[in-house]
Amino acid sequence: MTDQELQLLVEQMSLEYFGRSFLHKAYFNPRLKTTGGRYLLKSHNIELNRKSYELFGMEELRGIILHELCHYHLHIQGKGYKHRDKDFRNLMAKVGAPRYCSRIEESYRKHKTVHLYECATCHQQYIRKRRMDVRKYRCGICRGPLKKVSEFKKN
Ligand SMILES: [Zn+2]
Ligand SMILES: [Zn+2]
Repeated sequence: MTDQELQLLVEQMSLEYFGRSFLHKAYFNPRLKTTGGRYLLKSHNIELNRKSYELFGMEELRGIILHELCHYHLHIQGKGYKHRDKDFRNLMAKVGAPRYCSRIEESYRKHKTVHLYECATCHQQYIRKRRMDVRKYRCGICRGPLKKVSEFKKN
């Protein structure tokens, strides 16, 4: 996904879920590590972590965008845009946005290392907190062989 495609996606979701235009910039920032995205108060831009998309797919990315758009629209309208604000919590509930900006972050919060496996046949992904012997286990969906995709460590 390019920055341009991401920009379009954010603009579309802004109209679809909030009935308001997103008038600033959305782009992938390679420097984001464990957070899925962030809203910048000064520029009003939204930065996203490409890793969230690569690891967990489109649903994860859309969730993060929804979360950041909640910050964005409330801040622009001068309402409570912080995590603890009532306005923020109400809007999150209304659009169905996830509470955390990222599953990477959530996993990191609980575990030091996260292992990601994928079925070689159907590409179903499995997130594990412990290393798994891929010779002993098979895909729960199609019984295909598993392979390790990546491993993330907290610094
Ligand atoms: Zn947030
Ligand atoms: Zn499979």
